[in-house]
Amino acid sequence: MVKQVTMAPNGPQFSELVQGYWRLVDWGMTPQQRLTFLKQHIELGITTVDHADIYGNYECDRLFGEAIALEKSITDQIQIVTKCNIMLCGDKTPERKVNHYNSSKQHIIASAENSLRNLQVDNIDVLLLHRADVLMNADEVAEAFMQLKAQGKVNHFGVSNFTPRGFELLQSRLDSPLVTNQVEINPLNFDAAHDGTLDLMQTVRTRPMAWSCLGGGAIFSANDQQSQRVRDELELIKHEIGAASIDQVIYAWVRKLPSNPLPIIGSGKIERVQAAISALELELTNEQWYRVWCASKGHGVP
Ligand code: NAP
Repeated sequence: MVKQVTMAPNGPQFSELVQGYWRLVDWGMTPQQRLTFLKQHIELGITTVDHADIYGNYECDRLFGEAIALEKSITDQIQIVTKCNIMLCGDKTPERKVNHYNSSKQHIIASAENSLRNLQVDNIDVLLLHRADVLMNADEVAEAFMQLKAQGKVNHFGVSNFTPRGFELLQSRLDSPLVTNQVEINPLNFDAAHDGTLDLMQTVRTRPMAWSCLGGGAIFSANDQQSQRVRDELELIKHEIGAASIDQVIYAWVRKLPSNPLPIIGSGKIERVQAAISALELELTNEQWYRVWCASKGHGVP
């Protein structure tokens, strides 16, 4: 069963696996199929959903909202995470010349209000700044967060892809704890485990969220040497621990990190969501964990 866990001191409760909706446009579902998928993973215990304003070229939160509108009461059963501060170029924003970041008070508030409208919900459980922004003025972000909280539009705040120092900087201006740093963690890229990001999460007893645990699917198909080494080692460990598939080994590998990351599932196929849930029962030894480390790096530990 998928447990509910506390994200941070005085933080919200999330399901220990999160359903990601970045690829919702690709799933090609009707509104009713989107609602069915949402209900299926809620039924399995995955109640937390991950969004961002930009997903699907600014389309995903609106598609999700269409499904919510079919059964409004479902919002009582979910925790919504969404993000802001990336400014994408594209057909919807012809005035922009390059992709960039904007962490101004005005943009944060406008983006959150837009997400509320698109998602068709009354409030957002957690709003994240999507990317570390060197032009971020932490005092201004704090003002935006305070206003959104006071107006009942957002309950909690966090960050994504932040450096440890960036996390501490923003935290220093806030009255309540940031409730997560959502970062990439997979056997092909686990920089967060080495650059202090996860150490800080453990220090402040705050759980990271792990995106692209399966390398965005690359782990199954990429032909470079690193991916092949990792795949071979995962296959061996799969047999040793009685896993059904290598994605289950990867989820167990991510979850063994002592900062207790919450894997975000990227698939829209309910059987793959179920496989991730079954992986909650699996445990790796320290040596098995480091065998994946060695396969990824192509050398032994120092
Ligand atoms: P992922 O799990 O690494 O990749 C999902 C992809 O892998 C899908 O295309 C899926 O295809 C494929 N896949 C899954 N299981 C497979 C299998 N057994 N065999 C072959 N292919 C398989 O996750 P992700 O989608 O990259 O990221 C997960 C979530 O993290 C996103 O939805 C988003 O919410 C979040 N995210 C956040 C950031 C950030 O900057 N904060 C960045 C990226 C993502 P199917 O759909 O066909 O199963």
